[in-house]
Amino acid sequence: MGSYAIANYLDGKKVPTFTNSENWDHTTIDYMLRNRATYGEYQPKSFAGGHKKGVPNGPPIPNYYPAVIDRNTYETAQIARKQNLANRGRKGNELANIFGGLTRCAYCGNEFVLHRVTNIQVLACAQDLNGIGCSRTAWTYRDFEITLLAFLAHPALADRLQGRQKDKLIELIDRIVDLSTNQERSYPLRVDIAVLLKEIVTEIIVHSAGDISAPRLPSAQISKDVRGRYSEIRLWDGQLDRCLSLS
Ligand SMILES: [Zn+2]
Repeated sequence: MGSYAIANYLDGKKVPTFTNSENWDHTTIDYMLRNRATYGEYQPKSFAGGHKKGVPNGPPIPNYYPAVIDRNTYETAQIARKQNLANRGRKGNELANIFGGLTRCAYCGNEFVLHRVTNIQVLACAQDLNGIGCSRTAWTYRDFEITLLAFLAHPALADRLQGRQKDKLIELIDRIVDLSTNQERSYPLRVDIAVLLKEIVTEIIVHSAGDISAPRLPSAQISKDVRGRYSEIRLWDGQLDRCLSLS
């Protein structure tokens, strides 16, 4: 959803604006989506040397302003925004990676990021892609998404959680079911799922090379979908579960 669509949505819901204006202005929305103050953070700046915009001075201070949205939602909006910009002009906006910021490599701890191998989207270790070398194994994105969403939709997980956590997981399961039956709405559904995932999942540790732990040479070819690959998912109740690839 872009800033125009959000402005229309807020108008439609008759959400009051910050000013006396009757309608939401898309530039306000755009500013909010890009500004850390939206989730309450304040970045001290130095204006020394005649810097007009200022340069960051010291670490950002969390919870300085009252937050309009929480930080996870803000970060997911950034992901959606970047994807939007990257996909502009392409037919049917897709949120390419709904697990952004959640996945990390079991072998070196770096993030798993989207990458293309012979025109197929895969998730691969960022350190590996930077040429430093790691397991040199990637996981086809489509298979990864199907595997993880099927795992999260398992009723045993919802049984384990309680209260708000359980409600959020049930909301996630509803969206996953909607996604499988309603392809026309896949973009907004995927954005919803990405937001919910950030609330429910603490981390996903990706064992893309299965049980093999020895790193391979940085020059070795990246192999895809190694047998025995699995992920370990930590939900916000702290428990770590093993999730095996379905294929
Ligand atoms: Zn790695």
